[in-house]
Amino acid sequence: MELSRRDFLKASGAGVGGVFLLKLINSDVALAGPPKSIPLKKKIGETVSICAYCAGGCGILIAAEGSNLISIEGYPDHPINRGALCSKAQSLYQIRTVNGKLNPRRLTKVLYRAPNSIAWEEKSWEWALEEIARRIKKTRDENWIEKDKDGTVINRTEAIAQVGGSAHDNEECYLIAKMNRALGMVYTETQARLCHSTTVAALAESFGRGAMTNHWTDIGNADVILIMGSNAAENHPISFHWVTKAIEKGATLIHVDPRFTRTSARAHIYAPMRSGTDIAFLGGMIKYIIEDIEQNPQNYNMEYLREYTNAGWLINSGYSFSDGIFSGYDANARAYKDKATWQYQLDDKGIPKQDKTFKDSNCVSQLLKNHYSRYDMDTVSKVTGTPKELLLKVYQTFASTGKPDRVGTIMYAMGTTQHTVGTQNIRAYSIIQLLLGNIGIAGGGINAMRGESNVQGATDHALLFHILPGYLPAPSTAQPTLAKYLEAITPKTNDPRSGNWKQHQPKYMVSLLKAWYGNAATQDNEFSYQYLPKIPAGGNYSWIPLFEAMEKGTIKGLLVWGQNPAVSGPNSNTERKALEQLDWLVAVDLWETETAAFWKRPGVDPKAIKTEVFLLPACASYEKEGSITNSGRWAQWRYKAIDPPGEAKDDLWMVVHLMDKVRALYTNQGGPNAEAITKLTWDYGEHPDPNQVAKEVNGYDLTTGKLAANFIGLKDDGTTSCGNWLYSGSYTEEGNMMARRDPKDTSGIGLHSGWAWCWPVNRRIIYNRASVDLNGNPWDPKRAVVRWDAAAKKWSGDVIDGFGAKGPAEVYPFIMLPEGVGRLFGMGMADGPFPEHYEPWETPVKNMLSNTQLNPATKVWRPQEQGTPDKYPYVATTFRLTEHWQAGAMTRNLPWLAELMPEMFVEIGEELATEKGIRNGERVVVESARGQVQGVSIVTKRLIPLQVDGRVIHQIGLPWHWGYMGLATGDSANLLTSHIGDANTTMPEYKTFLCNVRRA
Ligand code: SF4
Repeated sequence: MELSRRDFLKASGAGVGGVFLLKLINSDVALAGPPKSIPLKKKIGETVSICAYCAGGCGILIAAEGSNLISIEGYPDHPINRGALCSKAQSLYQIRTVNGKLNPRRLTKVLYRAPNSIAWEEKSWEWALEEIARRIKKTRDENWIEKDKDGTVINRTEAIAQVGGSAHDNEECYLIAKMNRALGMVYTETQARLCHSTTVAALAESFGRGAMTNHWTDIGNADVILIMGSNAAENHPISFHWVTKAIEKGATLIHVDPRFTRTSARAHIYAPMRSGTDIAFLGGMIKYIIEDIEQNPQNYNMEYLREYTNAGWLINSGYSFSDGIFSGYDANARAYKDKATWQYQLDDKGIPKQDKTFKDSNCVSQLLKNHYSRYDMDTVSKVTGTPKELLLKVYQTFASTGKPDRVGTIMYAMGTTQHTVGTQNIRAYSIIQLLLGNIGIAGGGINAMRGESNVQGATDHALLFHILPGYLPAPSTAQPTLAKYLEAITPKTNDPRSGNWKQHQPKYMVSLLKAWYGNAATQDNEFSYQYLPKIPAGGNYSWIPLFEAMEKGTIKGLLVWGQNPAVSGPNSNTERKALEQLDWLVAVDLWETETAAFWKRPGVDPKAIKTEVFLLPACASYEKEGSITNSGRWAQWRYKAIDPPGEAKDDLWMVVHLMDKVRALYTNQGGPNAEAITKLTWDYGEHPDPNQVAKEVNGYDLTTGKLAANFIGLKDDGTTSCGNWLYSGSYTEEGNMMARRDPKDTSGIGLHSGWAWCWPVNRRIIYNRASVDLNGNPWDPKRAVVRWDAAAKKWSGDVIDGFGAKGPAEVYPFIMLPEGVGRLFGMGMADGPFPEHYEPWETPVKNMLSNTQLNPATKVWRPQEQGTPDKYPYVATTFRLTEHWQAGAMTRNLPWLAELMPEMFVEIGEELATEKGIRNGERVVVESARGQVQGVSIVTKRLIPLQVDGRVIHQIGLPWHWGYMGLATGDSANLLTSHIGDANTTMPEYKTFLCNVRRA
């Protein structure tokens, strides 16, 4: 039955963030096994799927009969959403059906736009795949770089790029990544670069892995929840269900954000903050905690701090920090070229020295204290604009979780990540959570809230230039041989208590090469390592350089898999114009997106644009089968409920058949490094099966032909294969573990270990060895994650984080780091071992904490485009809405959502509106140094003027979902944002820039 428009509007208006509970039943009712469908009536079955929007991973049930979609509702037994769906997920229905018919905006045919043409032409799949394959071969062969100037074989092309894949299934992402590398492509990027690349860099540096430490249901275990730089109630509505669960049990919610949102409305403490000043805010908290630890050590877990962090480890005495600059800085290079002084002091056995009394002036805790001594309450308040009394309230409340039996969690999203200091913002969270002993603990951790349904999986499977699947580093020109590569990725330690898990990376790399090159990968040919492209050491092929290279004409062909850079890319005018430089563009989507239609965008003459465009019609999530991984690392299998419409195909089919065509061309005609393509294992048949790909990802014991049980058995001698070691254990001889659906929770803390599968090895809370004391007793027995039985030499509870036969006193808990303890001092960062406040690239004020204005390790791409406060006096920030998703194609083409949120708007505080003579509902123009947008003004109390360094600073907020295609159109906020990025990852600084505003 179709939900009527009236019903929909009524229902979606109820509750926080438009969440409405369709069905809530007892979650303890277990289903027997993992049925594919649940029979309802004679002919109709409900198929199990997972929501296609944010990375909440909510379960849905889809009823269909033949080609008719009957209904979509929340999966009542799903541990995360328990039958609830937000308004976006409920509208998944309209991706397929509007008024009882196929949504007329869905693509059902292959479309082609010839160079300089003004219209699309319909084409066949056969024609399109053949033509695209020819374009790929021609472009690759004509732009092949076999050797660099030093004669090192590098086997790459910089003329073909790929973006997208974050809403694809894991199996599709994996094959796209495999194809890209075989083609020698290095410009390969996904949404993760734009939303959480800084998360991966910061969390991997701090703890060893770059992922959300806990998971959605675990948020219900927290005593204090700090949500910063996120509007969880609207953007991750079901996650907020777990926040409200915690509140019902007595938890305190703190919200820190430039805008007062629905999350703030539910918070016990709301603290406004100037966008881009997170490190000042958090640096003040670090100072508060350090001083409180000195005065009231009984309120903190001193054993955790001493034994599980590097607080007492000694740093090279040459380390220094002065006026915003750390030792080792090269001003000409705008980089820290020499990090020798950032290293641990070693004893005569090569083991880092420690002072567990924390008195040595070179120990990390002393350096930390010195560093943040400048972040006093007055200064922090002057920088952030947050009133002092609110700062104190936030600091006191969150610091209260330093006690072993209290726990606090941090939830964050783009408000934290998208800055020139994005990585260091998250490093600041890491320092706070380590000082408070909140990592590895139920209800604790740092929970990165990912915004696309499988952006986690796309990252895991390496749709990013700098990694291979499982976060193995991409080979560089400094590693011309496999031996050199393996040496570089194998960290060394002499410390007997260090687990140093990354010492096993050679097994994972050789198993990956066996998965990709099969029998052609032998000891004698370095397992085909030479076939892989090598990037220059320190080379940057990320999003901003990709579009800069496109604008210069270096990139000639672009494959866009389900992404819409014409709306989502920073500095959209520049990026849209860069698309005009392409010879060819392949866009794979359900809709005619702004990117696919860039050649006929407003203000351009299609006849003047040479780019050929192939627009390939893709499937919706429930028109195909495969797995996706949510933000909490749960890989969940979803099934096909209905055939795709018309000639639409799933992406697995597309990538397999496209590469089949490319392989045929190279087999028949040859070409540079042709064997990388012709010898690739690529036998997926006419109808590719995601189960086959998932098994390849899981890996095999090649001596027995059996599926690997997990990554422990992988070897570096060529006798095992594994497409992604992190997913080894997801599809074993016992079956598809990702399809498991036992909703029972026997842990008492919501681990739900029988539901789906979680990487690594179904461990639900990573770093859980840190949840117990040195005797193996949980710090908080009420929320025990694991326990060690010393007599039996056995762990119980969650899957222990490595070394199952070793107790807590034998192995340090952070096994992925060579030193084994959490890093308060992070020596691997590009911009300093401690987070330091710098102003955003565009700011109305001078840095009050040093004379170094901008992050000194950030590359400035377009200095001429920097806006100044005399022309652009207001701080602007962008945000998302419940009703729309990302660049809008998946929501602005759905009548329900388009009607709920039809038009671009601009939030302006009441005081600024009065000053500018702007009334609520009037059209206004917002302008930055890069462009201007129009929208309807929302004059609101949600943005209050802030007192910054003795003067008033106004902030303006803009949602960023709109574009020129779809049912609901409007200006894209990214016309205003800039090409400047984070120093560690080049994540664009979307969240802070300068603007002016006036009546239209
Ligand atoms: Fe889908 Fe996210 Fe809403 Fe859950 S919270 S229903 S995953 S959009």
